[in-house]
Amino acid sequence: MKNLNSILIAFLAVLLCFGCQSEQKKEGAKTAQEPQATRFVTIGTGGVTGVYYPTGGAISKLVNAKKDQYKIRMTVESTGGSVFNVNAIMSGDIEFGVVQSDRQYQALKGMKNWEGKPQEKLRAVFSIHPESVTIVAAVDSGISTVEDLKGKVVNIGNPGSGQRGNATDLFMAAGIDPDKDMQTEGLKAAESAGMLQDGRLDAFFYTVGHPNGSVKEAVAGTRQVQFVSVPDDIVQKLVDKLPFYAASKIPIKYYPGVGNKEDVKTFGVKATLCTHADVPEDIVYNVTKEVFENLDTFKTLHPAFADLTKEEMLKGLSAPLHPGAEKYFKEAGLLK
Ligand code: GLU
Repeated sequence: MKNLNSILIAFLAVLLCFGCQSEQKKEGAKTAQEPQATRFVTIGTGGVTGVYYPTGGAISKLVNAKKDQYKIRMTVESTGGSVFNVNAIMSGDIEFGVVQSDRQYQALKGMKNWEGKPQEKLRAVFSIHPESVTIVAAVDSGISTVEDLKGKVVNIGNPGSGQRGNATDLFMAAGIDPDKDMQTEGLKAAESAGMLQDGRLDAFFYTVGHPNGSVKEAVAGTRQVQFVSVPDDIVQKLVDKLPFYAASKIPIKYYPGVGNKEDVKTFGVKATLCTHADVPEDIVYNVTKEVFENLDTFKTLHPAFADLTKEEMLKGLSAPLHPGAEKYFKEAGLLK
């Protein structure tokens, strides 16, 4: 018995000792001497024919150019859009996401898709290009006003998209009940142009920067298309009621062949970069720094970025700034 006890004690001592060693090893990994392992981060975007996807490509291009220095490797994921991205950031599936400014606001405050569930750990990094609520309609469907959408087959966007909420806000302001007044579809943006050309849709909504591949694809088809403008009084109603909306215009110069003769009045939001409060400060700092210090290069990576300025890129954010972004903005003198 005595022997058995001492064997047990010796066994426990050995176990404990191993425990200490592995603890020491873990501690050791945190010291500066050992080379830091590369951190893989993902940025959620949107459909490949939108602007979010190339935006993710542009950000990751700048960040990955410094991968040896920062030990960050950024990959770009095509997703269902803003709502999907917020949810994937919150669940930790992705570290960054491009999110419409209205969706950022609603997620933070627990409105719309997040009714009663404020996403308190959502963090803002910076804002990017303006996005216009864009209604693309087939000319032969006889849709030239918002009212004309009644009785038609309209893609208002997949549930993970940003545009779906903008479509319902517009219908509310215009006194249209989408459930009764039309046949709505919930298709992804990348499918819209093809479906419109195939005659399976009369019109589609897309909240997006210009120019973009989806609208180009719709305009390039044999079925002629035009943008539907949103009347001034409805835009005013939306702007007065909801703080994230602003009047905007769709420039037709990017879409030769479109049925409109002048730039199209509508309303819009901003694309923003979001992250989670728990994403390490140095990662967010370096991502912010690379985009801001190389802004001239960044602006050449997509025509929708043409008018970006550093000052404007701090506007349109409603979630608290992530400390990594805040640190960079203070160092750069962009924030007091
Ligand atoms: N604004 C759209 C959304 O949030 C995506 C636009 C884009 O991919 O450029 O779903």
